[in-house]
Amino acid sequence: MAKKNNRGAVPFAALTHVGKVRALNEDSMLALPPLYAVADGLGGHQSGEVASALAIDALRDHAPKNPDTVALARAVQSANQAVITGIEKGAGREGMGTTMTAVMVKDGRAVFAQVGDSRAYLLRNRALSQVTEDHSVVAAMMRSGHLTAEEARTHPQRSVITRALGSDPNMSVDTFEVTVLRGDRILLCSDGLSTMIDDAHIEEILTNSLDPNKAAEELVEAAMDAGGSDNISVIVIDITEDQGANAAAMAAMKEKKPRSKLWLWALIWLALVATTVAGVFFATINYVEDRAYLSGEPGGYIYLNQGVPDTFMGRSWSFGSNRTVVEFDLLDTIYQDEIRTSPEFEREELALGRLETMVTRSYHYFDTGSDLINRGLLNTGGNTGGNTDSTLPAGEETP
Ligand code: MN
Repeated sequence: MAKKNNRGAVPFAALTHVGKVRALNEDSMLALPPLYAVADGLGGHQSGEVASALAIDALRDHAPKNPDTVALARAVQSANQAVITGIEKGAGREGMGTTMTAVMVKDGRAVFAQVGDSRAYLLRNRALSQVTEDHSVVAAMMRSGHLTAEEARTHPQRSVITRALGSDPNMSVDTFEVTVLRGDRILLCSDGLSTMIDDAHIEEILTNSLDPNKAAEELVEAAMDAGGSDNISVIVIDITEDQGANAAAMAAMKEKKPRSKLWLWALIWLALVATTVAGVFFATINYVEDRAYLSGEPGGYIYLNQGVPDTFMGRSWSFGSNRTVVEFDLLDTIYQDEIRTSPEFEREELALGRLETMVTRSYHYFDTGSDLINRGLLNTGGNTGGNTDSTLPAGEETP
């Protein structure tokens, strides 16, 4: 019989500290099992702390009862709307925003939702891995191979984020799902921890501090010792028997496989593989064709490209390129940096939308930006050619 006396008592710890430099703690947190979240407010005094608190309140009100990626993402969208509405109603200040990293843990499932550069980590068998991906300029530069993790941690633009709650009503939320096991440990934290100490240090503390309260205290202390230049928030959640997946049940299911029919399954599998390989190939091309990315260089214009910027299997997957009327040099430097990473989008409209945002927010386009957008950012002169090679990948090679 399973012991039930411990049920409901989830071991977790949540701790936040203003740090050594900031006058005010703009982070907000929520620890209401099975829901946990960290929000790092942006915008300074009378803004950041308002935005993060509004977002956390809305998340709590709209969160689903059980872990569900779609429903949790929707709750984060509600939190986004709450901050936007807050600004409209005069709460905080124009331009305020917040990050949000949330997790719901129940019955062996951990569902994460992510916007911004606060993080979620998973410690399993003494090894730490980052579950979420930062929405920041340095993270994009790391993904494109322009920065190492260590350079990113100390880069002057390390705190410039590319996505936050509070400005875009169509903001998208990243979600992740992990099957958690008894003994796993989840950490949520604001960048006040992850920019102060590296992942190896976090791993060491989480591995060696058995009690979650002690682990949280030691993490905050380590960030303070390293300078404490930002607000530090940490939530440590230990996965117990009640929350973790039932390993015995999963093992039992595997045992049931009828051995005598394995050859039949192998045949069916082979047939399926043969037909799906072809299907997947064409589906991939369709998917890649729909995608879009932005590019540009100093002294030139921004291009809206169809496909993806990377090469794969020795060929380019870029299918064509349209010049826009936006000049690289007239964009603010943070957007120039973003363009340098060749930001990718699921559809052309999204890429164009992002470019509109860049134009609207760039100082040099202050007078002319909206006029430009109304007339259409794409150069109607059409395809300029020469910018990218636009060969089709499906066997129609030019000699
Ligand atoms: Mn911060």
